[in-house]
Amino acid sequence: MEISELVASKVLDVPDFPKPGILFKDLMPLFADGPAFAAAVDAIIAEQGADTFDVVAGMEARGFVIAAAVAYATGKGIVPVRKAGKLPRQTVSATYALEYGEATLEVHADAFLAGERVLVVDDVLATGGTAAATLNLVEQAGGRVSGFSVVLELSFLAGRERLEGRPVHALLTV
Ligand code: IMP
Repeated sequence: MEISELVASKVLDVPDFPKPGILFKDLMPLFADGPAFAAAVDAIIAEQGADTFDVVAGMEARGFVIAAAVAYATGKGIVPVRKAGKLPRQTVSATYALEYGEATLEVHADAFLAGERVLVVDDVLATGGTAAATLNLVEQAGGRVSGFSVVLELSFLAGRERLEGRPVHALLTV
């Protein structure tokens, strides 16, 4: 089975979550299925190429799940990109607009070595606000983004246009 079909078979559409009118894509069934999760992680690594990055960054919270698996499978480290106020030492931060209000993401200021190549991993790419903020964070902290990988891209929201020409791979695009 193609990876896109496998992912499609393990993603549930949940209407009106978290609010009326939103069709939420629930990836928990993919995470819960061992062979399907392993196939998704392997496909992300194959699409980017394990030699194209030095470290993996994943966004809180579902990005942590995938990023940790990619990091372990390739023998690289992981930098968790956290919501504001969670990290104990000096941070850099990036604030981005949500539909209502804004959100802030942070990493430690010393999270990356100078010029380190960072693969950014999340579950879903929607408007691209989260991924663009992470690009900003990586660069503030001295790293450089080698590419973005997501399990699912909602292409009608045009998130990849905000990612400045970096390679963006999605296992399934809808
Ligand atoms: P963006 O910032 O609009 O691209 O939204 C992407 C972020 O919101 C990711 O961190 C996702 O985890 C989360 N997200 C947005 N839409 C969905 C969805 O339908 N299912 C699961 N997560 C979503």
